[in-house]
Amino acid sequence: MLLPEGFAFTQASLQDYADCPRRFQLRYVVNQRWPAVEAEPLFEHELSVRRGERFHRLVERHQLGVPTSQLEILLGTDPTVRGWWQEYLGFAFLHSLSGNRYPELRLSADLGGARVVAALDLLVVQPGYHVYIFDWKTHAPVPRAGWLRERVQTTLYLWMVAEVGPALFGEWVEPERISMIYWFTAAPEAPLRFDYSSAWRVESGARLAGLVGEVLAGDQRLTWPLTAEQRRCRHCVFRSLCARGVVAGSLAELGVGVDGERDFLLAALFEAVDEVGF
Ligand code: SF4
Repeated sequence: MLLPEGFAFTQASLQDYADCPRRFQLRYVVNQRWPAVEAEPLFEHELSVRRGERFHRLVERHQLGVPTSQLEILLGTDPTVRGWWQEYLGFAFLHSLSGNRYPELRLSADLGGARVVAALDLLVVQPGYHVYIFDWKTHAPVPRAGWLRERVQTTLYLWMVAEVGPALFGEWVEPERISMIYWFTAAPEAPLRFDYSSAWRVESGARLAGLVGEVLAGDQRLTWPLTAEQRRCRHCVFRSLCARGVVAGSLAELGVGVDGERDFLLAALFEAVDEVGF
């Protein structure tokens, strides 16, 4: 058997395969443990992860209806988290939306005989009108919209909501009535919104099926292809195993402003910092 019993594809595992088939093989087929850090300095990276988790928990409870006054203990004293929280409370578009709210929603669908799952930070359903997927990103800076549109997360979450719509909402939801909104603590006033379409749904379904099909057709006796883009390896925990370097990429690169470099670190942080739920 190629994959473990009960294995389900996530946006992170599919992104791993899209970025580097060998990384997918090591992580999910071989279950290789390899101690290495994704970004330096380690303390700062781990702190970002913990802050992101705390923020996600706060928003989940708030969206479940817990009053702000009862969230003080969970909020804690970290000024960074408290600042994010204030910005979140000022996210007028979100708070003014009518409809049913489903924070930390897990969705599952069949794709080509495999199970794919998604952990949505928040789904707001306005019956007969519109469906909004929200995703909180707590690391800086904000990526380019074109880059984010091509991430597997965007592809999978929009496709998933369209796919499970009839079961979830009791009615077919046209893709044109589904939007995904990324909200960044680094730029709370400028969320990035992606409006789905029928054409994009066909395209994303084909892309996801292609990725899943390639994985399932993989031969576990062979070494799967290593990415040709070696800049990905700087933030990959397997870099020494693959003889692609020893030293982790630096968080300072986020401030360099060179998209080509910054994107690779952002990609690593997208999975490590805000992948809450799996
Ligand atoms: S170090 Fe590079 S080649 Fe090896 S698994 Fe990671 S991304 Fe792929």
